[in-house]
Amino acid sequence: MAKTTGPLISIRRLNKAYGTFTVLHDIDLDVAEGEVVCIIGPSGSGKSTLIRCINHLEAFSPDSTITVDGTRVAPGPALAKVRAEVGMVFQSFNLFPHMTVLRNVMLAPMRVRKASPEDAERKARELLARVGISEQAEKFPGQLSGGQQQRVAIARALAMEPGVLLFDEPTSSLDPEMVGEVLDVMRKLAGTGVTMIIVTHEMGFARQVADRVIFMDAGRLVEAGTPAEIFDNPREERTRSFLRAVL
Ligand code: ADP
Ligand code: MG
Repeated sequence: MAKTTGPLISIRRLNKAYGTFTVLHDIDLDVAEGEVVCIIGPSGSGKSTLIRCINHLEAFSPDSTITVDGTRVAPGPALAKVRAEVGMVFQSFNLFPHMTVLRNVMLAPMRVRKASPEDAERKARELLARVGISEQAEKFPGQLSGGQQQRVAIARALAMEPGVLLFDEPTSSLDPEMVGEVLDVMRKLAGTGVTMIIVTHEMGFARQVADRVIFMDAGRLVEAGTPAEIFDNPREERTRSFLRAVL
């Protein structure tokens, strides 16, 4: 990835509305290269919308600015560059059901990066090993458990060698016994210096892995700090009452 001096992701006065309903109010956020940021907050507080704005899966107010590695996020030709730089892992995996696990991971590098099939396959097998599912390469997504499918989705996102990975509640649709294996993969990634922004309800994971925790409520970034600051000593009453309810 091209080195820039400033933050990898810079969000300034991000506003977004659906009709007359404002979903995001003046969000300011910088994320440095290698940083792991966890976003917590009640359902409907705008967490998904915020991270979906980063690769412009959601449009936002034109007087707001988001830059990714120095490129401004806006409709137009530069958007492909941003999207190649930003990997996304969703709650619902979104794998292609008619393709094998291996093909799922090979597809984007071949289509977007014009990788040769040989290179794409070598890379895909390497990534499947990294997320611990080498032996599932020739299966179809429907033959895998939810936890395995989510690990494929992480490998698929990594195949594009993104500068940042966005996760939107990656363990929320998993059976409880599969949450740990996905969090383990994410913890390992965080340890290798991958920049990550993670929306999660897993407070133990956030406390352990995040460099910074952000609490959102009603479309606002209420409070940001280290895990110790947010979990042990929150400044805002809204943060305290949320944590009382979930911890
Ligand atoms: P979170 O991820 O924190 O649960 P979301 O970002 O999904 O919150 O949603 C924030 C708010 O935006 C919610 O009140 C939700 O109902 C509203 N919202 C999300 N998508 C749409 C949409 N397409 N049209 C109208 N309102 C929406
Ligand atoms: Mg959400």
